[in-house]
Amino acid sequence: MKRIVILGGGTAGSMMSNKLVKRLDASWTVTVIDRDDVHLYQPGFLFIPFGDYRPEEVQRSRKSLLDPRVELRLCGATRVEPENKRVFLGDGTALDYQVLIVATGAQLMPERTEGLTGPGWQESAFDFYSLEGATKLGAALERFEGGRLVVNIVENPIKCPVAPLEFAFLAESWLRKKGLREKTELVYATPLSGVFTKPKASAMLGGMMDQRGIEVQADFACSNVDGERKVLQSFDGRELDYDMLVTVPSHAGDEVVRASGMGDYAGFLPTRKHSLQSRDFESIFALGDCTDLPASKAGAVAHFQGEVLVENVVRFVEGLPMLQDYDGHTNCFIESGDGKALLIDFNYETEPLPGRFPLPGIGPFTLLEESAVNHWGKLGFKWVYWNMLVRGEELPLDHRMLMAGKWGE
Ligand SMILES: Cc1cc2nc3c(=O)[nH]c(=O)nc-3n(C[C@H](O)[C@H](O)[C@H](O)COP(=O)(O)OP(=O)(O)OC[C@H]3O[C@@H](n4cnc5c(N)ncnc54)[C@H](O)[C@@H]3O)c2cc1C
Repeated sequence: MKRIVILGGGTAGSMMSNKLVKRLDASWTVTVIDRDDVHLYQPGFLFIPFGDYRPEEVQRSRKSLLDPRVELRLCGATRVEPENKRVFLGDGTALDYQVLIVATGAQLMPERTEGLTGPGWQESAFDFYSLEGATKLGAALERFEGGRLVVNIVENPIKCPVAPLEFAFLAESWLRKKGLREKTELVYATPLSGVFTKPKASAMLGGMMDQRGIEVQADFACSNVDGERKVLQSFDGRELDYDMLVTVPSHAGDEVVRASGMGDYAGFLPTRKHSLQSRDFESIFALGDCTDLPASKAGAVAHFQGEVLVENVVRFVEGLPMLQDYDGHTNCFIESGDGKALLIDFNYETEPLPGRFPLPGIGPFTLLEESAVNHWGKLGFKWVYWNMLVRGEELPLDHRMLMAGKWGE
């Protein structure tokens, strides 16, 4: 029996396994390895602090999302021996593979920032990037009576780079509805020189911060948190005091990547930009948040990558050359508060541009422009995620970024 092992049964691993069993014949076993049977819809974490989603809505059994032909092993992977094509599991067993797909995502590392998980952690300092953090933050916001609320990105890369911006916009809108806006100073502290990596979108989103009275502290590289004094410090000596800190902690690749000597300094897997094959081992491929690619760490990215990777895995087992088709395509809704959102669509080469998406000239979604229809698109993504995306169904979207319908280049 020939085997494809997929490390990680999150967004990317589930989707890939469901796609691959449809494409390969019965001589292949597709095995997904994950630690537990709880699949989390992470984009939903954003809405939990404001009471718009309940924790139950963002969790499903992994098994229920997988094609019955996919074998699921619930056990942590501890090490890979690429030269022997073997994966070791925490229960002491090992699995041999012909192809390994690494889809282990990115882990949160709050303990890497001095003081962050010390006094005040999950009392006055929270994250919303974990289900536990988002839920505790929601409870704290219910008790919040105003003060200084600081949103901080400790360092990049992070998952969904627009999520902290969305949190700031939603918090501003939520505080107004609760009658707390006048009593609250909102501060957005980022290690970037602007609020986003891409210049045009950054200028526009920065303008939206100004309009909403959200103070931006740019080039703020967080060095430590003093939870007793409720102060956030930067390497250049700036201090920001807070009553509530909402942090996006440092991210890293999973320990299994590092323990196998396959990762870069942060534990992300060196991956070929266009084919998604490992740069070091020809029978290893990667997609989603675990790669070192200069594309956003987002579920939509994992989806576009998956379209290319399924073809390349099939070509690899047939001995054909790799397609060089992944262009860095990224697509994100950005919640902006008051029932509106923007949409951005870009790739390795082209930054977000205004226009209409996905139908040129029609939309219904508006690029780099707030609209209610974008907000409904963001909320509708949950249904698409559970029922189509992770199940490996075809979505009517090109995996390449198209220029049709965009203007302003
Ligand atoms: C707050 C927030 C908002 C977001 N909003 C959006 C959004 O609006 N749009 C969007 O497209 N994306 C969004 N994202 C990002 C999106 O959720 C991720 O990019 C996506 O889930 C990545 O998929 P993945 O499969 O690479 O990683 P994951 O889905 O995290 O899956 C990785 C899996 O690997 C498993 N694993 C890791 N190591 C091991 C091991 N050693 N052994 C066994 N199993 C292991 C983990 O248990 C996990 O199940 C958001 C993320 C967050 C946190």
